[in-house]
Amino acid sequence: MEPNTKKLVIRNIGLLLSGKMEQPILDADCLIAIDGKITEWGYEKDLDIEGATTLIDANSVTLAPGLIDSHIHPVIGDYTPRQQQLHWIDSTLHGGVTTLISAGEVHMPGRPKDVVGLKAMAIAAQRWYENFRPSGVKVLAGAPIIEEGMVEQDFKDLADAGVKLLGEVGLGTVKDGKTAKQMVTWARKYGIQSTIHTGGPSIPGSGLIDADMVLETGTDVIGHINGGHTALPDDQIICLCESCKMGLEIVHNGNERAALLTLNTARELKQLDRVILGTDGPAGSGVQPLGIMRMVSMLSALGDVPAEIAFCFANGNTARQRGLDVGLIEKGMAADFVLMDKAQNSPGATILESVQLGNLPGVGMTIIDGIVTSQRSRNTPPAEKLPQIETTT
Ligand SMILES: [Zn+2]
Repeated sequence: MEPNTKKLVIRNIGLLLSGKMEQPILDADCLIAIDGKITEWGYEKDLDIEGATTLIDANSVTLAPGLIDSHIHPVIGDYTPRQQQLHWIDSTLHGGVTTLISAGEVHMPGRPKDVVGLKAMAIAAQRWYENFRPSGVKVLAGAPIIEEGMVEQDFKDLADAGVKLLGEVGLGTVKDGKTAKQMVTWARKYGIQSTIHTGGPSIPGSGLIDADMVLETGTDVIGHINGGHTALPDDQIICLCESCKMGLEIVHNGNERAALLTLNTARELKQLDRVILGTDGPAGSGVQPLGIMRMVSMLSALGDVPAEIAFCFANGNTARQRGLDVGLIEKGMAADFVLMDKAQNSPGATILESVQLGNLPGVGMTIIDGIVTSQRSRNTPPAEKLPQIETTT
């Protein structure tokens, strides 16, 4: 090993979840990451665990790729003006989420809506979260809301400056499918991903986006297909699932009945790999530190999905759809993990059974880029067993 190499070894893993729907459970009790990237997993007896700079005894708990929230509305640091709340990102980390993806920094007081101003704010937001990770959490932000008057050069300028996401189409002045489609096409040409506000207005001042507008616009992700909060009629949700290949994003801050309709339709289409999860917080309903965990157990229990598959909605599916280097147990992926166990006194013989019965797991540790970012969660129900740091240098 080179001097200064950071070697993380996690041993005594009870269950290793991969984030991959095609093989959600891996055969292993040990995982190694070098300098923040996954290098190996398997049985401890077969692996070289010498020279660990951090050695963790998982104490037979479950390790999964850190959860991803595909839909948040951050503003700055670990503060949201939407509900005047501090440390909501730290609380979210305690819910097992290690990556947050902005769907627009729409709660910025005085948010600029002129083209120069909105570009400047998007670039600044991308930078301030790249330069500062609240409690270690990766916040992919700098997601401008498209407004009337933007031209192709604006999208090139944004991309050249490091912007990789569009905020929810429909939250700005662009309300027609033709203009939105043109702008989304320009964004895509320069490598910028897109999402759209689906459903009824979220708060006074926003508007309805129906299935026709979503399909015409053709974003990469159908943002909150179950509404945020107000869902589209059932026939439009089914039509969206059937008529395109876009990501089917289900959010906590939406309609739960519509969430189950989306899930069931995706399953009938054999396209569960399109299902990804978000909270859509902070929002009118507040912030949801356990929102992603709650979606995993709700969809698993009420949607009758094996828990190990439901976890893939919250990590691997999102990573694959959005081309991220997190969310999967794969060589070279970031060593971002959540370690969790069955909640104390919860029904079910195993963590997976307990989750499928609708219960939350207890989070015992999170790790980002190979570094321990939190230990026993202050927010989840207490886990039966907790991982321990054996040594760290
Ligand atoms: Zn929305």
